[in-house]
Amino acid sequence: MPKDEKEGLRRLLSPRSVAVIGASTRAGSVGRAVFANILLGDYQGIVYPVNPKAKSILGVRAYPSVQEIPDEVDLAVVIVPAPVVPQVLEECARKGIPGAVVLSAGFKEVGGEGLKLEERLRAIAREHDIALVGPNCLGIINTDPQVRLNATFARSMPPPGNIAFISQSGAVGVAALEYAESQHIGISKFVSIGNKAVLNETHLLAALRDDPHTDVILLYVENLDDPKGFLDLAREITGELPQKKPILAIKSGRTREGARAAASHTGALAGSDEVYDALFHQCGVLRVETIEELFEYAQALAQQPAPRGDRVAIVTNAGGPGIMATDACVRHGLKLARFSEETTRKLQEGLPPTASVRNPVDLIGDAQEDRYAYALGWVLRDESVDSAIVICTPQMMADLTAIARTIADAAREHQKPVLACLMALEEIGEALKVLEEARVPHYRFPEDAARALAEMARYMSWVNRPRTPVRTFDDVDREAARTVLEKAQADGRTFLPEPEAHAILRAYGFPVLRGELAADEDEAVRVAERIGYPVVLKIVSPQIVHKFDVGGVRLRLEDEAAVREAYRGIVQSVRERKPDAEIWGVFVQEFVPGGVETILGLKRDPHFGPLLMFGLGGVYVEVLRDVTFRIAPIRELGAYRMIEGIRAHRLLEGFRGQPPRDTDAIAECLLRLSQLAIELEEIEELDINPLMVFEEGAGARVVDARILLRESGSPR
Ligand code: ADP
Ligand code: MG
Repeated sequence: MPKDEKEGLRRLLSPRSVAVIGASTRAGSVGRAVFANILLGDYQGIVYPVNPKAKSILGVRAYPSVQEIPDEVDLAVVIVPAPVVPQVLEECARKGIPGAVVLSAGFKEVGGEGLKLEERLRAIAREHDIALVGPNCLGIINTDPQVRLNATFARSMPPPGNIAFISQSGAVGVAALEYAESQHIGISKFVSIGNKAVLNETHLLAALRDDPHTDVILLYVENLDDPKGFLDLAREITGELPQKKPILAIKSGRTREGARAAASHTGALAGSDEVYDALFHQCGVLRVETIEELFEYAQALAQQPAPRGDRVAIVTNAGGPGIMATDACVRHGLKLARFSEETTRKLQEGLPPTASVRNPVDLIGDAQEDRYAYALGWVLRDESVDSAIVICTPQMMADLTAIARTIADAAREHQKPVLACLMALEEIGEALKVLEEARVPHYRFPEDAARALAEMARYMSWVNRPRTPVRTFDDVDREAARTVLEKAQADGRTFLPEPEAHAILRAYGFPVLRGELAADEDEAVRVAERIGYPVVLKIVSPQIVHKFDVGGVRLRLEDEAAVREAYRGIVQSVRERKPDAEIWGVFVQEFVPGGVETILGLKRDPHFGPLLMFGLGGVYVEVLRDVTFRIAPIRELGAYRMIEGIRAHRLLEGFRGQPPRDTDAIAECLLRLSQLAIELEEIEELDINPLMVFEEGAGARVVDARILLRESGSPR
């Protein structure tokens, strides 16, 4: 990276002169396609073909090497075979070229020699401060009329617009560009980042952050090189800047790779996809699945004003599509607006008696543009309406172009998002053109419009979210926690049995259930008497992680006889099933009936840092996989979002006569866990399962916990 990173990127994306190294006259070659795209794409700077074997390319005088170019060069576009690229890059360095886009393939993606070549490329770029995109990429596009650079071998150049697109895959990039062009979607900049030898998605995000031509940023990524940097920057771009920009991302590879045998549930459930979900949630990046969604949402966000809320008005000329739109809105979390009395009265006055004046407003099949204009005017003026979906199905009387003009006028007049849905295929070219010129996004089906609107509302709820700080609890006894950790480390253990795990959590201020270790039967009785019946007995052994599975848990013991019987039963059962296990004794614990069992977890990811998990606990955790993740540290709002994020969260809100549960207590535990995750780095994995949650106001209790430490000597 150049010393002045920003300036380097600016010159890379908006170069005043470009050298195309490997420009070619050979039909069908990439070298020809790229040069032709630059030349014929109306590039506003100066382009120099470099090719030692040609006198000219497409009529432009060619240079045998970059050194021979008489002027300053901002950007080198490199299309020579991989083994030659390092040498070419050295020449660029000597010429003082600050930026390079390497399209050539044959690097990391082929392994072996390719890996070494890519290493050399990186070293040269670093040494000479060259901002390098690629290798193995499609190139870059800048549609700014002052630049107009298409340094790719894609077949087409999208029209200018305010949407930027960063793609890790060249093929996805081409497909997306063609899709955008076919839909007349304007693009500001396109960058295919390829193997990301030097510049990665975070660097480009930084460049787009301040780009006045870009209002919405799209990403296609397969992995993130710098998750922490990405998180901080994306968070700033989406929610903190004066000119906030939504970011939409496809992260492919949405398959589970987390299902490995692990000692903790958290370890087993934290696959890479869950981690990406968490990360995107935490920085306001809207994750989508398909290229179509990517552009449909982007268009709405790029062209229409932000909705103030989630209340939608639907105006249609046919009942069925109106109902479909209503269903879709509700399904995607939007609300149907309830019109004011005035709006309803005006609609009654001005629409035919057969029309439906409630939301969805049905103008009836013979509606023409005047009826649309009237209804839209009143509906959009209503304070209880945040946005509108306008549906038009082709009817004999309808002049679609005139209706489109009406929709465009209404959208222009009111600072509320208006999305159109023209449910026709034939003879709508003119109408669509009217909408496009007015920057009113249009969709084929009501479902698509509803989804796009829901995405806009989702983004706005991120922008308008209450900002909460990362909390540090000052009642934490770090010394006490460290003492326990050091004892285990001194013993050479990486697994901390229940009493030790409880001690650490107690030091961190968690509400831990009363319990004590008893080394023999008599002591178990004495502890039980001290705690008070009923009690629970559980095996304590550094070799036993899942106590219940080996017959090591006895619940609800009401008296001394039951405790003695349980003690012997547990020890016998464990001796039979785990003969090698070293038994420390039993854990005698207060018995608590009637809570909802939840799980809180921590797992350290080498790439992302400490992950926190929340879900419904108990034995079905790994079957139901109903859990949410965040990367620590989390904030108060994040803790509540984790709780709301599980599918079963209604069980916590109160359900079928069950009282609502103390979610504040869960949130506090999550925040304490977040602090613990940051402060106690030697903890590799931690499960609290269950955290028993009681009625609102009655708190929660840590019933069981297990902690796994990092292998001593392993790097962090
Ligand atoms: P493990 O997870 O190692 O099998 P636990 O201590 O979590 O052992 O016990 C298994 C289950 O027994 C818990 O999920 C919970 O349902 C129940 N249980 C354990 N301890 C108590 C207790 N003190 N009060 C009420 N139920 C308990
Ligand atoms: Mg348990």
